[in-house]
Amino acid sequence: MARKVLVLADVRDNSFRNVSFEAIAAGKKVANGGEVVSVVLGENVSGLTSELFYYGADRVITVENSSLKEYTPDAYSQALLQVIDAETPDAVFMGHTAVGKDLAPRIAMKKQSGLISDAIELEAVGEEVIFTRPIYSGKAFEKKVVTDGMILATIRPNNIPPLDKDESRTGEVKALDVEIKDLRTIIKEVVRKSTGGVDLSEAKIIVSGGRGVKSEEGFKKLYELADVLGAAVGASRGACDADYCDYALQIGQTGKVVTPDLYIALGISGAIQHVAGMSNSKCIVAVNKDPEASIFSIADYGIVGDLFEVLPLLIEEFKKEVV
Ligand code: FAD
Repeated sequence: MARKVLVLADVRDNSFRNVSFEAIAAGKKVANGGEVVSVVLGENVSGLTSELFYYGADRVITVENSSLKEYTPDAYSQALLQVIDAETPDAVFMGHTAVGKDLAPRIAMKKQSGLISDAIELEAVGEEVIFTRPIYSGKAFEKKVVTDGMILATIRPNNIPPLDKDESRTGEVKALDVEIKDLRTIIKEVVRKSTGGVDLSEAKIIVSGGRGVKSEEGFKKLYELADVLGAAVGASRGACDADYCDYALQIGQTGKVVTPDLYIALGISGAIQHVAGMSNSKCIVAVNKDPEASIFSIADYGIVGDLFEVLPLLIEEFKKEVV
């Protein structure tokens, strides 16, 4: 069965977050010979669209409006709903990002559709689309089968690989005018917090510190390793609560959910609430001086030792590899 799939692109600092391309790949899986239409909401975004074609979009719709410069639930939901009404898609996908998590339920409510949130895999089998999503903080996975109505889903970053980039692809770009009114929120200023240059939720490598790092000064060493590896720095809530780093770095049940290729946990005990945010990392390396620390039960490689002795050695060795 051929479907029309609308995919919301996630724009940040004038470029697309990777999850935009991953969601296009997800869209391709269910389009089944139909079309994948990327939607870009924002201000001055029309110059960005070619990358969406490179990664598989068949068509692009841009909606430019000064109210869409930064995300607000009101403006984005009004704009996306008008695109949905104009296109009447069979499915709408977006990233399971801060924007997607906030926006998708609003769209579901307005369109009276269901919502598959945080999908990590999906397949189309005849009339059915089967989604896989984690439950119980990642301890188990469930399959959800959608058979009719508009399919609405958020796609977890770093799980569905994007299609190979093909710079010869191009397509039609259409600018759509929408009416945005009665806004209850106006963004006056955006102050961004830094997580070391690399976006934590999309990072391929994360160097993460816990209470065992012991101080803000100790975290500086983590940044040194992260610099060598081109990694982002993350943290446990223990480290955030102790004021060693900002809460923007927190990974876990009440922090960010990450799925990097490599997760290096330093001085983190492995509490269930932390593991909920990182257990799907492809390779986990744990450094802890307590051989009984529960982080070792999920680690692929474990180093029992003092992180302040291990960290300089890792920095030194990785420097040799990178140079
Ligand atoms: P600790 O448990 O204190 O562990 C520190 C570790 O460092 C120990 O294993 C110790 O052996 C090791 N260590 C100490 N010194 C060294 C050294 N020199 N070298 C090597 N190792 C050393 N936590 C999160 O992380 N994310 C969440 O999203 C989150 N959400 C929560 C939600 C709720 C509702 C609740 C109740 C809790 C939540 N927590 C969360 C907190 C969680 O339960 C733990 O308290 C927290 O993860 C512990 O952080 P930690 O591992 O850094 O600290």
